[in-house]
Amino acid sequence: MCQLTRRPHSIYCILPPHILRSLAQNGTPGQRHNALQTLSIDSTFRGLRASQPVVRRAHRIAIAEGQKQRTIYTANQSETLPGTLARAEDTQPSNDPAIDEAYDGLGATFDFYWEVFDRNSIDDEGLPLDATVHYGENYDNAFWNGERMVFGDGDGDLFNRFTVSLDVIGHELAHGVTEDEAQLAYFSQSGALNESMSDVFGSLVKQYLLKQPADQADWLIGAGLLTTKVSGVALRSMKAPGTAYDDPILGKDPQPAHMRDFVSTSRDNGGVHINSGIPNHAFYLVATQLGGYAWEKAGRIWYETLRDSRLRPNTGFKRFARLTASVAARLYGSQGTEEKAVSDAWKQVGIVLN
Ligand SMILES: [Zn+2]
Repeated sequence: MCQLTRRPHSIYCILPPHILRSLAQNGTPGQRHNALQTLSIDSTFRGLRASQPVVRRAHRIAIAEGQKQRTIYTANQSETLPGTLARAEDTQPSNDPAIDEAYDGLGATFDFYWEVFDRNSIDDEGLPLDATVHYGENYDNAFWNGERMVFGDGDGDLFNRFTVSLDVIGHELAHGVTEDEAQLAYFSQSGALNESMSDVFGSLVKQYLLKQPADQADWLIGAGLLTTKVSGVALRSMKAPGTAYDDPILGKDPQPAHMRDFVSTSRDNGGVHINSGIPNHAFYLVATQLGGYAWEKAGRIWYETLRDSRLRPNTGFKRFARLTASVAARLYGSQGTEEKAVSDAWKQVGIVLN
């Protein structure tokens, strides 16, 4: 599928395999064709990625701190990367929505990390941000491959173009940040934490751009991505995991919000896109409990936890939860409102700290 494990750089796709499998089983012949095509492209990444050297730092050019360096390419419906140059930094809109949404989304994500966390791009060393749009024909996915973001146009039937959701762009780039800071292994609980980190920061990128307080945010990942034909609002809901969609073709959102509903499965790298609902909901609870802008305190706690050397690649939910409480105490005082909000949130999703 879309991820490589036990390699320095994985490929992270936004669409979990269970949605594509459901589509391939229940869709019309056309929908099935697109889903199978997407699954087959996703599975070829294994060979593709393994045979490519890591080049992301090789083409670095010197730019000032906090300066964006975006380059958008178009694959023109081919599967060749990077494709042809479509828009460079500081150039006018192209009037192609996919190109301009990718450009703006990369910019909003860069600005979020720089302005909120003083982080200079994905690697904190000013990594230029590259993206390719119009990847493949009716390709129902978007991914971060360690060096660029790649967006399909969707089938136009069930999925819109994948540049449409800012939180999807924020989600994918956050995989780069996690890879740079913590290398959370993309399997089982550490993998679900890896996924959850991307949902948390993906949602925060959107909330920050819209200047939304925690109680006014939609807490959805992939809002706008599903067409009106689909019975659903997004790919995931952090506010109410398990309720994002319930559709005869896509199936039902399988995310749990509590440890008692933890899903044990060998699929999806051990349920990384499924059990991420539990830490996602814990973050939502912390943010809404503390009130105000979620990126200010809850986001800071999660970001500093991601950077904490005690966060190991194989960290599970409980150890992660303890770390967030410890970081909250370090940042805002022991036994303070923030540490208490963190402990309470974890308790509400079934993880009791002691
Ligand atoms: Zn992801």
